[in-house]
Amino acid sequence: MACPFCDFSGHHRAVHAHLATAHADRVVTTAKEGSSLLLRYEVHCPHCDFTAQRIVNPRGRDPDFLEEFAAEIRLVAFDQLLYHLEAAHSQPAAPAKG
Ligand SMILES: [Zn+2]
Ligand SMILES: [Zn+2]
Repeated sequence: MACPFCDFSGHHRAVHAHLATAHADRVVTTAKEGSSLLLRYEVHCPHCDFTAQRIVNPRGRDPDFLEEFAAEIRLVAFDQLLYHLEAAHSQPAAPAKG
């Protein structure tokens, strides 16, 4: 499959890893302070209105922890985006079975 943001293409896992390193800035983080801190991660599909999102409640507020935590959540958000791309904008790179 192809990266939705550039010319890179490869297997699902390769594209996933590529997204996390090359396009981490595509994931928009919104923090909501209330009785507890809520972080919302969003990544928009470049082909349609779909938004992959995840709302998390980190257990700590230590900046180092949040940075590591954010990296993990970005992977989850990109995973959602990839599944959406395969389901809604499937590319003929790999022959489908079934
Ligand atoms: Zn790319
Ligand atoms: Zn889409």
